[in-house]
Amino acid sequence: MGMTSPFLQPDSVAVHAGRDDLAALGVHALPIDLSSTNPLPDIELGGLSYESMATGGAPHPEGGAVYARLWNPTVARLESALARLEHTPEAVAFASGMAALTAAVLAMTAEGRRHVVAVRPMYGGTDHLLGSGLLGAEVTYCDPDGIRAALRPGATALVVLETPANPTLDLVDIRAAVDAADGVPVLVDNTFATPVLQNPADLGAALVLHSATKYLGGHGDVVAGVIACGSEHAAALRRVRAVTGALLHPLGAYLVHRGLATLPIRVRAQQEGAARVAAWLGGHPDVVDVHYPELGDLVGPGRQMRGTGAMLAVRLRGGYAQAQQVTSAVRLFTHAVSLGGVDSLIQHPAALTHRPVPPEARPSADLLRLSIGLEDPRDLIADLARGLGAGVSGAVTGVREEAGAGAA
Ligand SMILES: *Cc1c(COP(=O)(O)O)cnc(C)c1O
Repeated sequence: MGMTSPFLQPDSVAVHAGRDDLAALGVHALPIDLSSTNPLPDIELGGLSYESMATGGAPHPEGGAVYARLWNPTVARLESALARLEHTPEAVAFASGMAALTAAVLAMTAEGRRHVVAVRPMYGGTDHLLGSGLLGAEVTYCDPDGIRAALRPGATALVVLETPANPTLDLVDIRAAVDAADGVPVLVDNTFATPVLQNPADLGAALVLHSATKYLGGHGDVVAGVIACGSEHAAALRRVRAVTGALLHPLGAYLVHRGLATLPIRVRAQQEGAARVAAWLGGHPDVVDVHYPELGDLVGPGRQMRGTGAMLAVRLRGGYAQAQQVTSAVRLFTHAVSLGGVDSLIQHPAALTHRPVPPEARPSADLLRLSIGLEDPRDLIADLARGLGAGVSGAVTGVREEAGAGAA
């Protein structure tokens, strides 16, 4: 696939990446190849192609893709776009974020090197999978300051961290973490920040993981995962993907790729709305505190994270009972897990997304996580005001009862 100019601004890359050859193909929209198998030119070339893909390479130029578990051109097209957005040589797409993490651990660990350091807090599914023993890895959990002490020289294969972290929005200094990892590859889950706001590979991360289910897809209609990385890691990941069968379906790849074009404007607009909602929540008497990335050393133009993002979490004075009240009263927000879509979602991490996390690391019961969508923030604030209940509605002027009428 040819490359558009490497000097394009990020917004232009989001629109055009992975589409360079479309005009030559005589099409304008992204083509979808649903073939589960591919005609073989002859035994020899087909065999060479199979061999190449089973060991993490691309199909032999004349051998074809052979079988769709090994390679799919629609998926490869998305991967080339993602690599450009994350400033990495390659990217590898999976059936989900958790399939991507599974492949990363399997690809990076080996006999004698089965130790993984996991920085908490992190997404509950990640915490759970790493601690499950299913992947044959031995895991040490730590906080960002504990990375160096957690390393086992000669045995640690991978450091896994998330910034901002799900659900508390805690930040990790990526450069400092890479430093502390002392040469051990660091995987950064960049799901919350997106490549629009943060490029961990520029700061030394070896692997950049996304649950593409969230912002990259952006419309709540696809489950997908991707890891952006260098060519050596990409080959190891593709090999695991081919043998375990974790390839993203081409229809999913199409949807994620289509979502990329609007990613920058979605993220910026959602971020603007989130800032308004966070400010309002911060002044609400029933809110103990708002977890929201603050402008400072790590956040702001030219910093590790170029903006504050569109995720936030709140602790409620009324605890779990009030969380129950808010989640059942909202109409414009959908009470649902997941995040990063065009519509706003609200959920209780301790009971849902972080339920499998051991009690000592589980988020508190008074915490709600909010994913701010593209609605007018005034309508979102009105919805939250109603959810938080009596005594506060007077503080919000212009609250319209019909604000929730369009809620999905
Ligand atoms: C949702 C999520 C995942 C898991 O991704 P799936 O696509 O659901 O498998 C991983 N990390 C973070 C931060 C997430 O929010």
